[in-house]
Amino acid sequence: MSTSVSTHPDEFLPRDTADVVRTVRDSRKSTKPLTIRGGERPDEELAPPEQGAVLSMRKMNRVQVVDADARTVRVQAGARLSDIDRTLAAHGLGLPIVGDHREITAGGFAAVGGLSNASHRFGMFSDNVVELEYVDQDGRFGTCGRTHHTDRFRRILGGGGRTGIITALTLEVADMDKDRIWLTTDAHRFLDFDTWVEHSFKEIQSPGDSMLQVGRWVDTAPLKVARPVGTGTVQLGTVRFGQWSSLHPTTPNLSLRARREVGARARKSLGAIAASAGGRAGMPVRNAAAGALMFAPKVLTPRDAEYLADTVISSSERGPAYRISVFAPLSNYTRVFHGLHDLFAGHREKTGCFTVISAMTYGVRSRYLRELDNEDHGFITFTCRLRPAAVPSELLRDIVSGIDEICVAERARRYDPTD
Ligand SMILES: Cc1cc2nc3c(=O)[nH]c(=O)nc-3n(C[C@H](O)[C@H](O)[C@H](O)COP(=O)(O)OP(=O)(O)OC[C@H]3O[C@@H](n4cnc5c(N)ncnc54)[C@H](O)[C@@H]3O)c2cc1C
Repeated sequence: MSTSVSTHPDEFLPRDTADVVRTVRDSRKSTKPLTIRGGERPDEELAPPEQGAVLSMRKMNRVQVVDADARTVRVQAGARLSDIDRTLAAHGLGLPIVGDHREITAGGFAAVGGLSNASHRFGMFSDNVVELEYVDQDGRFGTCGRTHHTDRFRRILGGGGRTGIITALTLEVADMDKDRIWLTTDAHRFLDFDTWVEHSFKEIQSPGDSMLQVGRWVDTAPLKVARPVGTGTVQLGTVRFGQWSSLHPTTPNLSLRARREVGARARKSLGAIAASAGGRAGMPVRNAAAGALMFAPKVLTPRDAEYLADTVISSSERGPAYRISVFAPLSNYTRVFHGLHDLFAGHREKTGCFTVISAMTYGVRSRYLRELDNEDHGFITFTCRLRPAAVPSELLRDIVSGIDEICVAERARRYDPTD
């Protein structure tokens, strides 16, 4: 087994593929399950499993070869996307799809599929994998790719580590200097859910030259607090608001540079405030900071945009929530969106199980999904804040079967390789 130092007694930190092979073969002699992990994220998601061992790829983190002519990069699976991108930047290249925080590894992202606000142009992260090396559950080494062992290739990509451990990948990269391209936001705001969905659909269908795109909707439950104003009353605590942002390339001038500078400083301060506002009491502060950042600033670079949410959003996302993500074929996109929204809003109305219901959406032009459905997709995520006491298991079952019915009727696919 690996000899690298780890703080967890059952954590293995292989340095190369031979180490992975040995670890997997040894683990077969034990009854303990082996959990694969990409990088290092010091939060509860990555707490060591109570039983079983962990194989962490974080020491296999080298960016091995940049082939600028072929527009590819070869990396070990534990290489962080942010580090790969930094290496590529020196060649005026960039990863088309990166995840929403800096610790994500190439192997971990390929194993879940991997989406971003650029997926309307570049599909999933896994669509950009040309070839990979893996070790299977029996500890056998192999390679597969777009042109050889294609079935295995498809099974491993998006397989969540259950169909093989990725040890190295060759990735397609884009001609994209993420620090020198300037983007400006074309934003549209909405108070009405139906109009927001309709607008999102049109933007996803015809994105024009937008490099990034995202739609966000927030709907808080009324706090049931009313204050007299004039001759009537105002219901407090109800916010229903949506925005669509498309980010288009622009030419930087002095005023845009100054705006970007001010924006970057403001985001940094908000990030610091949100990260330091801990516990339940800090939730309103984190929510306010996340709210302020929820909508894209007027001017920024692709690099700014990719990590916009890194500090603030993740620190605001503590607390119980029910999340669901689906790929909706564009022909059924609006029906899926309305179906899911009505399902969650209906349960909130009836039982008070949810407080805030928020949604996020953008387009996905994925080679892989196109092969299955012969059309492009809209990605839809709902996050419903829970009142845990108000969600008994029967209710949860009702919600899940409601989602399943919508997915079957509308040919939508759940995005959750952990299922
Ligand atoms: C289902 C799901 C989808 C997600 N989608 C996105 C997204 O689209 N965009 C985004 O920004 N964030 C997404 N996240 C959050 C997070 O950014 C990703 O999980 C990301 O892959 C984490 O990277 P990691 O390297 O830390 O992998 P981990 O969190 O350690 O692992 C993620 C999954 O991949 C497996 N895995 C890790 N490394 C390997 C490997 N080398 N070989 C095989 N399997 C491996 C793990 O067993 C686990 O199932 C998603 C999370 C989940 C659970």
